[in-house]
Amino acid sequence: MHTQNLEAHEALMRHWGYTEFRAGQEEIVSHVAGGGDALVLMPTGGGKSLCYQLPAVLRQAAHGTAVVVSPLIALMQDQVGAMQELGIDAAFLNSTVGLEDARDLEQRMLSGAVTLLYIAPERLLTARSLALLDAVHAAGKLSLFAIDEAHCVSQWGHDFRPDYRALNVLPSRYAGVPRIALTATADSRTRSDIAERLSLQAAHQFVASFDRPNIRYAIASKTDGRNQLLKFLLDEHEGEAGIVYALSRKKVEETAAWLCEQGVDALPYHAGLSADVRQRNQARFLREDGLTMVATIAFGMGIDKPDVRFVAHLDMPKNIEGYYQETGRAGRDGEPASAWMLYGLQDVILQRRMIDESPADDAYKAVQRDKLDALLSLAEGHDCRRVRLLAYFGEASTPCGNCDNCLGGGASEQWDATELAQKLLSCVVRIRQHSGISFGAGQVMDVLRGKRTPKVEQFGHDQVSTFGIAADASEVTLRTVLRQLVAVGALRVDADAFNTLALEPAAKPILKGEQKVLLRQAASETGKRERGPRRERTPRTRESSSATKLAALEASGELNAEAIQRFERLRQWRTETAKAANLPPYVIFHDSTLKTIAQIAPQSMDALSSISGIGERKLQAYGERVLELVLDQN
Ligand code: ADP
Ligand code: ZN
Repeated sequence: MHTQNLEAHEALMRHWGYTEFRAGQEEIVSHVAGGGDALVLMPTGGGKSLCYQLPAVLRQAAHGTAVVVSPLIALMQDQVGAMQELGIDAAFLNSTVGLEDARDLEQRMLSGAVTLLYIAPERLLTARSLALLDAVHAAGKLSLFAIDEAHCVSQWGHDFRPDYRALNVLPSRYAGVPRIALTATADSRTRSDIAERLSLQAAHQFVASFDRPNIRYAIASKTDGRNQLLKFLLDEHEGEAGIVYALSRKKVEETAAWLCEQGVDALPYHAGLSADVRQRNQARFLREDGLTMVATIAFGMGIDKPDVRFVAHLDMPKNIEGYYQETGRAGRDGEPASAWMLYGLQDVILQRRMIDESPADDAYKAVQRDKLDALLSLAEGHDCRRVRLLAYFGEASTPCGNCDNCLGGGASEQWDATELAQKLLSCVVRIRQHSGISFGAGQVMDVLRGKRTPKVEQFGHDQVSTFGIAADASEVTLRTVLRQLVAVGALRVDADAFNTLALEPAAKPILKGEQKVLLRQAASETGKRERGPRRERTPRTRESSSATKLAALEASGELNAEAIQRFERLRQWRTETAKAANLPPYVIFHDSTLKTIAQIAPQSMDALSSISGIGERKLQAYGERVLELVLDQN
């Protein structure tokens, strides 16, 4: 091993208490620590932070401060706190930092004492900050620029921030200072756009696998969204922390309130809430156990809470990049987690309309439509979700055995819906011929099923030849066929004309029998996701939710009764300690670290130090107290 790699391993152990690098990290760390530029693509939860934090540690003695550019102002305090817990000197600069503190920080940077400085792009680009960096650079104490959430520089990414564009001043102004840009969003178009915008074309590109094997993907069609969500929460994640995404602010608030009525601890988060409320809800989500955050996509970037057990989408998002980034927030700790999504025709219509009505140019809209279609076909697909997701990011794989389609038998459940699709398409045509105008999905389905509603009779649609030709098909089935026809472009839903249906060219081969329409059975119709008897529902309190968690631990045989008692004592101590430091508990120790301590019950500082997640600083700060807690048997 090179001396540099030895040093990197040593620092990994000393500060983080980790014995091994995760996939990709070691190469990146060694490249950047050696002064190279890098563009890093790694999935959310893959371990990107370490890829700049560790080089910052290694370069600090000779080169001074690494500047981390991050849009996450609300999380900077926690990020810096986490570094300090690891014994790494870190600071942030934003509007909450007073003049006095800022001056003090400047002095420390000039002397090269600060390892990491977190700063938002808009702040970095002020004359004052640039002057500071100029001085630090002149003193030879600027070691590295890390540009986090680098997709923000690209309009193709899902979170464009104009301030990021101005970061292309860095290479000329601070020549010789290595730069590392990191993102989890990475289709090839966005990737090359990032490289170009940040003048990183010559940088080494590191692309990690995008697989998150511990996340189970499931996508179902929406029938009764709320209740489907509640059932999912109670059946699979009672008392656990998670995020529920909804499209509108109104729906966020209604859903959060309704979940609370149902006994689920839920909080709302969206850009329309005051900054105070947002900050408070975010802090509670990070600091307390077992909360559900109901949010718009305004929430989540940079949320590094490791024990988020589920991410649920109540509505279909815009594209796969957004979806994958959001679902990636589940299970950063590597333990089993769920990504669960509902989608329906209304979602498709709404997303199409948002694209159509956006002020962007046609080329941009066309790309956005393609992206929406890709997500829709993922949802409608009957093959492995993971294979499709990874393929979207350019990665080949084989069926995962850990998604709804793999677990439900996937392809074996597909059925040939061609005939029904033909009936549906010709019904749309016949109705139009009969009335001279188009109608929406509801009318078409009523006619197909032979229902003499007032509206059917009013327009004489009981006289058309397709009346009642699909009398035995359920509405759920018809809707599935309808969505699929929209997804493959055989039908268009005309948002400008009361959501009426119209045929598109892709309908022709289906009508002619040249192309089949294959569908998968909806989960609700086959009951395929057998999960054993559902737990009795009792009104929950926070204690009962942690009791549920402990019971699950015991049932899983992971920890014996004594170990569970130890775990509980350790957790209580962690809660108090975190509260006193105003930090989220996982910044003190991860669950997995506490679990290991509880399990092996170490009797000495030495034994304790060999556990993953306990570096020098934490051993020193907490070791003795933890040993006492381990010994205490009552
Ligand atoms: P990302 O920024 O890519 O979304 P993070 O940097 O937040 O991911 O890392 C995800 C989780 O993995 C964190 O909880 C982190 O502590 C943990 N982690 C990172 N690297 C390692 C490692 N080498 N060994 C063990 N855990 C790690
Ligand atoms: Zn699968």
